[in-house]
Amino acid sequence: MSKILIIEDEESIADLEKDYLELSGFEVEIENRGDIGLKKALDEEFDLLILDLMLPEMDGFEICKKVREKKNMPIIMVSAKKDDIDKIRGLGMGADDYMTKPFSPSELVARVKAHLARYERLVNTNIQENEIVEIRGIKIDKTARRVWVNGEEKTFTTKEFDLLTFLAQNPNHVFTKEELFNKIWDMESVGDIATVTVHIKKIREKIEFNTAKPQYIETIWGVGYRFKV
Ligand code: CA
Repeated sequence: MSKILIIEDEESIADLEKDYLELSGFEVEIENRGDIGLKKALDEEFDLLILDLMLPEMDGFEICKKVREKKNMPIIMVSAKKDDIDKIRGLGMGADDYMTKPFSPSELVARVKAHLARYERLVNTNIQENEIVEIRGIKIDKTARRVWVNGEEKTFTTKEFDLLTFLAQNPNHVFTKEELFNKIWDMESVGDIATVTVHIKKIREKIEFNTAKPQYIETIWGVGYRFKV
């Protein structure tokens, strides 16, 4: 449930807004002093702020500026004076919407819903996508640590995954077994460069069509391995 903070010193207006928003399923809190309202907006978690312009102790202009510096949430600014609204809109002070009092509570609810939906879309598009490495039918999702070969998911052990990913990310680069061992296995690991050979064999069994004629991880005799592009 979205939480909304109303900073408004006219009690009857604040109560009316609260009633309508609660009827629409929102959780609402009211603060009537500017300075206390700002503190609440910064200290607590709200999804949207409805901010009156003229307030005791600190005006909506100042509150909007301070909230913007710290928080990313929609702010709807309201004022009884249309001139004030025009002025602050002209200043581009960072509110998402402006409404002149008196307005219909259902109009307020509609705008609240629209802004919440818009912010949710923004947040969703900012979610980091998984890091994907894709080479000739092999798809490696580094974030989820999953691998698909020609669309079919294959299971790899931790080191197999690390080794395959490292080679695929450095295609056409020949690495010696020593280099690969040092890169993928930490120094305390039990094992030696033969471990690399064993792992390459396991990886090939999962990704190659014919392990006798590897298409992906190529053996460079006397040197090491490389991932062919
Ligand atoms: Ca006021």
